[in-house]
Amino acid sequence: MKVLVAVKRVVDYNVKVRVKADCTAVDIANVKMSMNPFDEIAVEEAVRLRESDASVEVIAVSVGPAVCQETLRTALAIGADRGILVEAEGDVQPLAVAKLLAALIEEERPDLILLGKQAIDDDSNQTGQMVAALAGLPQATFAAHLLVANGKITVAREVDGGTETILLQLPAVVTTDLRLNEPRYVTLPNIMKAKKKPIAIIKAEELGVDIKPRLRTLKVVEPPARSAGVKVSGVPELVEKIKAVAKIA
Ligand code: AMP
Repeated sequence: MKVLVAVKRVVDYNVKVRVKADCTAVDIANVKMSMNPFDEIAVEEAVRLRESDASVEVIAVSVGPAVCQETLRTALAIGADRGILVEAEGDVQPLAVAKLLAALIEEERPDLILLGKQAIDDDSNQTGQMVAALAGLPQATFAAHLLVANGKITVAREVDGGTETILLQLPAVVTTDLRLNEPRYVTLPNIMKAKKKPIAIIKAEELGVDIKPRLRTLKVVEPPARSAGVKVSGVPELVEKIKAVAKIA
């Protein structure tokens, strides 16, 4: 079984992002970058599948500039077998990433495609769904648990009221949610081993995909500063305050 995992290089989740002075984007100069946390969960899950079945091959793929090889190396250190960098400069939006991944799926013919439910930089929550639609594959988003057996995958997915369990025919697209697993720490020996694993580099154009942005960002601004809170003496005063603010009789 072949598992393709999409990994995006994003601003590290611990960084408090700042908006550029010209309000065009978030400033990522000299900012720590890491693998998108949901993608780490996706790689971990793929590696667990391989650990329970040695015939599984895990391929990590990243779309972006040459530095995304660092993200692929992290995936290889977690345990992926090989990496593919689809080299593309500038703003590659979810639809373009989805088209590139769909073209790769055509070439690699994976049985399972794992993505994060969302990237924490654009928070789009679109790529997985678009990949499934473009590749004509079944999809299960927000996976909290998955089980592969007899050419099918059972996915328990997070929904508003709890979890919904669905059965999909492989090949399928699954996006990961937070509760799926807790990714392992990457050890130094595995970082060393990862240096020897192969990363293929292909240009986005080679996949015949037009990656021109379709969306234009008009302005990026900091959220308004929160005003200071008020301390109340107890519940009766709190109720009075809520009534006054919400104008409830
Ligand atoms: P988004 O739709 O942007 O919130 O991203 C959802 C998921 O799509 C991410 O968690 C990744 O698994 C995948 N993805 C998005 N952009 C990229 C990229 N440039 N390279 C690799 N995977 C990506």
